[in-house]
Amino acid sequence: MAKKDYYEVLGVQKSATKDDLKKAYRKLAVQYHPDKNAGNKEAEEKFKEASEAYEVLSDDQKRQIYDQYGHAGLEGMGGGGSGGFDPSHFQGFEDIFGDFGGIFENLFGGGSSRRRSSSRGRSATQGASLRYDLQISFQEAVYGTKAEIQYHRNETCTTCKGTGGTGRKTCTTCQGTGQVRQSSGFFSIASPCPVCHGEGSIIENPCKDCGGSGVQTKRQKIIVTIPPGVEDGKKINIPRQGDAGPNGGPYGDLYVFIRVKPHPYFERSGQDLYVAIPISITQAALGAEIVISSLDKKQLRLKVPSGTQNGKLLRIRDEGVPAPSGKKGDLYIKIIVQVPAKLSPKAKTLLEEVSKIQGENTEPTPVPFADKQH
Ligand SMILES: [Zn+2]
Ligand SMILES: [Zn+2]
Repeated sequence: MAKKDYYEVLGVQKSATKDDLKKAYRKLAVQYHPDKNAGNKEAEEKFKEASEAYEVLSDDQKRQIYDQYGHAGLEGMGGGGSGGFDPSHFQGFEDIFGDFGGIFENLFGGGSSRRRSSSRGRSATQGASLRYDLQISFQEAVYGTKAEIQYHRNETCTTCKGTGGTGRKTCTTCQGTGQVRQSSGFFSIASPCPVCHGEGSIIENPCKDCGGSGVQTKRQKIIVTIPPGVEDGKKINIPRQGDAGPNGGPYGDLYVFIRVKPHPYFERSGQDLYVAIPISITQAALGAEIVISSLDKKQLRLKVPSGTQNGKLLRIRDEGVPAPSGKKGDLYIKIIVQVPAKLSPKAKTLLEEVSKIQGENTEPTPVPFADKQH
């Protein structure tokens, strides 16, 4: 039977980078892994094919030979030749799954570097880190706040102090190793013992309050301090407020993700605040002193110079977002000149007078369409 092209097997272009290859292989390996396809010959074949293709293409020297001479070039090289693929010689396997994190921890059943032995000789793992999405107002984000949040988390069981119970003895299924090996024809895979969940020992009298897990779900209430100037999407890390680890393992962290509600009038860019303020045509033409309300309801005086154009940005220094360290932002006021929709007969007469005195340009020249007139 003719062998399939390695690039085709992985579904990548001939120009694929190492990263492309890795991604493509991961995808196939997850899909066709024997752990997930027990007894499925076709999946096993696909997994083998993909592994072989990746082994060759991820090796610069072998890839070069393959590109030049095809399958024939690799024969007799050991691995990737027609003699078949020997997974025990395949170094790439650990590389590729080494940084896989949570997905593979489940698929392959734990054994990550976070696992370590406690003083009681059992494996104590760190608890899960939790996520909490906290919505705050625009003002709270600008000036900072303290927010009380409530959530559920696993805490170390108070009854058994995380031990899970009494009468711990060596697991007979795995002889205390915590691992069982499964052979999938061409491949032997170690997975955690299903009886003791990889711990190597089991409890004869499990704690009634936690069922032997050593943890209990409890409602947790904490105060989160939001610093002034926090931006939408910011993550605040609160150490040790996540889940307790099983078997007395350390607590994971709590990540509070900040969502900032938009303000009806104010906008923000970095440390600066923006607000639009309407004025009349006479205020714009003659100049005026107006009072505007800042985000924290302070009354601020603003001098509008005579001849102010529509869209003009005026600035009030240091009324922007406070910065705990460094410079405060500014408040920018965009002037919106409003033309009266209705005129009294008297106002109309006076404006006609102004028009006469000022003279009107009946042949105006264009200005750039996008001109913002700042
Ligand atoms: Zn307990
Ligand atoms: Zn066991």
